Amino acid sequence: MIAIVLFGKPGAGKGTQAQFLKEKYNLTHISTGDVFRFNLKNDTELGKQAKVFIDKGELVPDEITINMLANEVANNMDKAGFLFDGFPRTIKQAEALEELLQEKNIKFVATIGIDADDEVLVSRILERGKTSGRSDDQDENKIRNRYIEYNEKTAPLIKYYEEKSKYTAVDGIGAIEEVTERLSKVIDTLI
Ligand code: AMP
Repeated sequence: MIAIVLFGKPGAGKGTQAQFLKEKYNLTHISTGDVFRFNLKNDTELGKQAKVFIDKGELVPDEITINMLANEVANNMDKAGFLFDGFPRTIKQAEALEELLQEKNIKFVATIGIDADDEVLVSRILERGKTSGRSDDQDENKIRNRYIEYNEKTAPLIKYYEEKSKYTAVDGIGAIEEVTERLSKVIDTLI
């Protein structure tokens, strides 16, 4: 089995691209944001724990997130591998992921970044917020806070993966199909 991480700022198009790539490469798509939202909606214990952080546009603590991800992986060992979207978001999560993949004998292919400019992304998210029903997409302060979290805690992962020769980025601006094509090209050279 293989694992690919889709990396990028909020609104970069990770979820959209994952929908195409998971079919193409027969991967289980795990979006930690989606799993949290599912739990929020169903008012589970995990949902209650995560809500306070998500509502403020802050990252959910590592321990909660890592446990949740490990469960998702363990319950979905039936495809050719995994496409992670929105995980890891901290160095601690990246270390936990490495350990987990090793344990499960899953080959870590790469982290692929989808690059885009902040201002383009903020307006994209506000637009998405009109229909997504996500409260964290509707309030510009919450959105800005998600970018602060990204810059402080998530951006250092680029260097972390570059040092391991596991980071590649593609230009995320353009038509959805064009970006899918760029990502596929990268994946095809790596698997
Ligand atoms: P997303 O849908 O990926 O934008 O995630 C929405 C929210 O869920 C984030 O703003 C965080 O509060 C939380 N979240 C999602 N993934 C993670 C993660 N890997 N670590 C911590 N919090 C996360």
